[in-house]
Amino acid sequence: MHEEKYDIIIIGTGAGGGTLAYRLAPTGKKILILERGGYIPREPENWDSEEVLLKGRYRAKEKWADKNGEKFSPVIHYNVGGNTKIYGSALFRMRERDFAETRHYDGISPAWDIAYSDLAEYYTAAEYLYTVHGRRGSDPTEPPADRPYPHPPLPHEPRLQELFDNLKTAGLQPFPIPIGVKSDAAAGQSGYVLDRFDGYPDPTEMKSEAHVNCIKIAVTFPNVTLKTHCLAEKLETDATGKKITGVRTAENGERKIYRADTVVVACGAVNSAALLLRSANEKHPRGLANGSDMVGRNFMMHHNSIVFALSKKPNYAKFGKTLAVNDFYFGSEDFKFPMGMIQMMGKSDAVVMQDLVSEKLRDKTAAYLAAHVLDFWLTTEDLPHPDNRVVLDSKGGIQLNYTPNNRLPHDKLIDKLKELLAVIGCENDLHENRHYLNSKMPLGNTAHQCGTLRMGNDPANSVVDIHNRSHEIDNLFVADSSVFVSSSAVNPGLTTMALALRLGDYLRSK
Ligand SMILES: Cc1cc2nc3c(=O)[nH]c(=O)nc-3n(C[C@H](O)[C@H](O)[C@H](O)COP(=O)(O)OP(=O)(O)OC[C@H]3O[C@@H](n4cnc5c(N)ncnc54)[C@H](O)[C@@H]3O)c2cc1C
Repeated sequence: MHEEKYDIIIIGTGAGGGTLAYRLAPTGKKILILERGGYIPREPENWDSEEVLLKGRYRAKEKWADKNGEKFSPVIHYNVGGNTKIYGSALFRMRERDFAETRHYDGISPAWDIAYSDLAEYYTAAEYLYTVHGRRGSDPTEPPADRPYPHPPLPHEPRLQELFDNLKTAGLQPFPIPIGVKSDAAAGQSGYVLDRFDGYPDPTEMKSEAHVNCIKIAVTFPNVTLKTHCLAEKLETDATGKKITGVRTAENGERKIYRADTVVVACGAVNSAALLLRSANEKHPRGLANGSDMVGRNFMMHHNSIVFALSKKPNYAKFGKTLAVNDFYFGSEDFKFPMGMIQMMGKSDAVVMQDLVSEKLRDKTAAYLAAHVLDFWLTTEDLPHPDNRVVLDSKGGIQLNYTPNNRLPHDKLIDKLKELLAVIGCENDLHENRHYLNSKMPLGNTAHQCGTLRMGNDPANSVVDIHNRSHEIDNLFVADSSVFVSSSAVNPGLTTMALALRLGDYLRSK
């Protein structure tokens, strides 16, 4: 069998793997990056809402099973850049309290064994790497930061500015979403209006994401090799079980083995766990690094609702994603438990609205709906539970055993938004947008997956240590959202990037 030897292998090119590759590329180490997907082509369909949102042109075509064995299509993207290629690039830091034990309506969100202060400098580095636009001090729950955002916030288009003002009048503290976009777009130097951003690949490459900001740069180093369409099928260990000796891959029907001193798994929370489970051997009969039986457990994915309201005045904005509200993040006067975040989304067009016309909206044309829609994304923390887990079915396929918890605070958050409809100049109803994240099947909404290879000091209760190193296998590291101890209620991207930069520094120091 064909074999090659490297210093470091990174499996996956998303927020975790891509960022880590960028950080390690200048070390001169011989680095191999393995990515199961290819490049998303730059093609007219990139911005075709029917192709992208309704037909899922760039989503992986595989099916996973739920806890009852019923198949569903997860929202997952296998390509260079991983899920960041189509993400909304809303790049939030977790709150300081998110790293501590926090009481929620349905139980405890556990403390991490690292504090916010351990990650703060890496959050800053990630904000600079991903050219984040925002304004410090505007978000009432934001943690302390040592530097301003690298770029000022994106301006609100007129109807969004009105929304912002209305929310202020209602006594809330809306703030500009920290968003990763190349600076010239914001400064208006290009004369280009941002559109088709959240949920779409960006052929202009103005969106800051792991392919454009990291992998593209990493592969310019002569010591870095990227293999696309290269699926890591199994990790092999030596006879002691304490060292990874090789990564077995399938590439265009050919089987190969790659060897390295250090192997980093960054396949996304579900696939990283699945890879370790599939790599079971004599020394690791339940799956690699799984003596604790923790691999795959504590899967989280947030409660996310994608809803829209109809503005009484037209909303001609092209780019809806410029503001968020965190006033209910830790609770409110009438509900003392954390509820989460409300943020705007990319604006729905007439094609999407046509498909969303329900009985209630029959009297309105798709064009009218598209000209009046305000799109919202609501996120509430789900709590880690050992029974919410990734397992393999009898054929080695992915099964996601997940029972939602902490749901009531999410319903309360939706109620909060409903209560605001009059004050923000909208008709008195919220409607579901089931397209953006395939939310026809709630479990399909795996966009914010995390937690399956938890980080911690206690090997009985975690899979990797606080430096992302496996407790059981010395040269095995994890660099994706699997290591999250809790999901918080902010988008997971920036935390994944910051953790990857921190891991990069740790590996460099070795
Ligand atoms: C529609 C959408 C919108 C989103 N919006 C936001 C947002 O605005 N802000 C935010 O912070 N987050 C957002 N997210 C979430 C964000 O994209 C993810 O949290 C982030 O990409 C996770 O990074 P990761 O490195 O863990 O995994 P991924 O980005 O999923 O990367 C994993 C990579 O590993 C590859 N891979 C998997 N298995 C294998 C294997 N066996 N062999 C080789 N390669 C493999 C995959 O192809 C992929 O490239 C969004 C997600 C979606 C889907």
